[in-house]
Amino acid sequence: MKPPVHIAVTGAAGQITYALLFRIAAGDLLGADQPVVLRLLEVPAAMGGLDGVVMELHDCAFPLLHGIVTTDDPQIAFAGAHYAFLVGATPRGPGMERKDLLQVNADIFAVQGKALNAVADRAVKILVVGNPANTNALITLRNAPDLNPQNISAMTRLDHNRAVGMLARRCGAPVAAVQRVSIWGNHSTTQYPDLNHALVDGVPALEQVDETWYREQFIGEVQKRGATVIAARGKSSAASAANAALGHMRTWIFGTPAGDWTSMSVLSDGSYGIAPGLIYSFPVTVSNGRYAIVQNLSIDDFSRRLMRDSEDELKSEREAVAGLL
Ligand code: NDP
Repeated sequence: MKPPVHIAVTGAAGQITYALLFRIAAGDLLGADQPVVLRLLEVPAAMGGLDGVVMELHDCAFPLLHGIVTTDDPQIAFAGAHYAFLVGATPRGPGMERKDLLQVNADIFAVQGKALNAVADRAVKILVVGNPANTNALITLRNAPDLNPQNISAMTRLDHNRAVGMLARRCGAPVAAVQRVSIWGNHSTTQYPDLNHALVDGVPALEQVDETWYREQFIGEVQKRGATVIAARGKSSAASAANAALGHMRTWIFGTPAGDWTSMSVLSDGSYGIAPGLIYSFPVTVSNGRYAIVQNLSIDDFSRRLMRDSEDELKSEREAVAGLL
């Protein structure tokens, strides 16, 4: 038996983690021969609920689940962690301004970044899901100067999966026929789901759908899909968010398939003229556990404008939390 891998998950009594933890424990992240230890972080008020989740994990009798640590102390949760899913975040409360939301979450991620820096495995891979995810990831990164910035990313995989699914349904093709969809920018309604390079069955997607659908319907539907799910379900999407988190981390570990790419929010190096130092979603390939931003894609004026709008939003988020950077 391999030695267990330690996986830290924050917000462990929340609804996304309720859909995530059981899949990790079942082997969906690392495979059927890799034991895991779950290191679960919650705020003190949620520890009671977390006890119930732990009972259910025990009651599944997962053969790969070799241990569970529960704590409200990030220094314990992240000790020796090989992977960290940062899901917990404070939702916007009544009367709360966007700036207040940014600030309260920035404080959480500054503490967690410092703890990861101090106690996590030196090769820890950190995925930020809690919103505002891109800026939270930036704060984590800036508070963890001893960790490799390559190992910190934010999730735009749900947006990517939504775009892949919508395009496949529009073309009447299976999801597996879709390649090279890109999400640019922020995990917010300014994100730009780009089909200019996408293929369906190896043929350019924009030769198979009409441009009016793409520009006037598809982009807005991907951008607002989260709100549409809330309107229908009365609750935010959870299973699909958990599935995307699992998929993001799996791709980061095992790589992208030949000829395809995925979307990840990563530290901008100035590619495509995006301001260096922002956590921005790019199309990336992954191999040997390292991502590389896909280079030399042609960007038309329409795309450039949408990419800039999302960049501008991320710049203003960064200004709002400047004190913590
Ligand atoms: P969820 O599990 O529904 O969501 C958790 C976070 O993920 C939120 O910031 C949410 O953003 C974000 N998110 C990202 N993508 C999506 C998506 N597609 N759909 C829905 N959410 C998405 O929240 P809960 O309130 O159920 O659980 C949060 C838990 O985190 C609570 O148990 C709380 O106690 C805990 N928490 C833990 C902290 C810690 O460990 N230190 C700190 C703060 C909170 P959005 O708000 O936009 O939906």
